[in-house]
Amino acid sequence: MLNDQDIMDSQQGVSLEDITDRFHLLQHHVDRLPSLTSDTDIVVDMIRKGMSHASNVATDLEELGDSTMLASLEDALKESIDLEYTINQHKAAFMKLRADVGDGLEKFDAYFDQDMQQYNAKSDKDKYYEHEKYTEFKQLVWSVNHPDSPMPALGFDDTKMENGGGDDDDDDVVIAATKKSLKCPLTTTWFENPVTSKSCKHTFSKAAIIGLLERTLSPTVVCPMPGCRQVFDKQSFYDDTLMERLVARAKEAEETNARSEQFHDVV
Ligand SMILES: [Zn+2]
Repeated sequence: MLNDQDIMDSQQGVSLEDITDRFHLLQHHVDRLPSLTSDTDIVVDMIRKGMSHASNVATDLEELGDSTMLASLEDALKESIDLEYTINQHKAAFMKLRADVGDGLEKFDAYFDQDMQQYNAKSDKDKYYEHEKYTEFKQLVWSVNHPDSPMPALGFDDTKMENGGGDDDDDDVVIAATKKSLKCPLTTTWFENPVTSKSCKHTFSKAAIIGLLERTLSPTVVCPMPGCRQVFDKQSFYDDTLMERLVARAKEAEETNARSEQFHDVV
């Protein structure tokens, strides 16, 4: 659906709404069904690169103390997550349409609108807080000024606590505050190319966990973390870009400290 010119346009400051508006079904789109999947994947890839870039800019803004710009950047990230979902759902609706294309184009809108209504009715928690790019953004911003303390749960509103809190609104605490080690439990050194299990969220250096899988004769292995019984294979992991950045920042901080200590020693 998008040609190269469209993609170039979208990289030159076209708004998210402009892109969303392009996702309406026309007959010539149906004629091009076979190329739809690759177009969608290219656009989603662009959006996700933008999300990663937002996290970089966010840490700069936090360092500068520019909370206004940071808040609008976070809003833009949420819009990007909505857009990513919209585009993926557009693709899913196409796939359903292709399965029974005899029922005509009107089914497309039914499939698409129904799902989008459900999505739009969801809370911020369901839409954003478990999206790995959103947690990456929040974690990186938090770590600028709180390098040694764990990030509070996303959606945690301390004004509610002061007012007594205690209602059953599950938006209150959605992701437990956790402080993950920056070192691989298998190599006991800084994570290198960290990968995280989609199911149990345990993180390992890629080479270490791949090595473990390859030394095991069966195609699956039980998670090596004590007490974790999750079984996984090579497909169970995603590249953990958040952990990669946190390690890079920690290494940077360590080098800065080492340099200033050397300086003091000389004095
Ligand atoms: Zn595990």
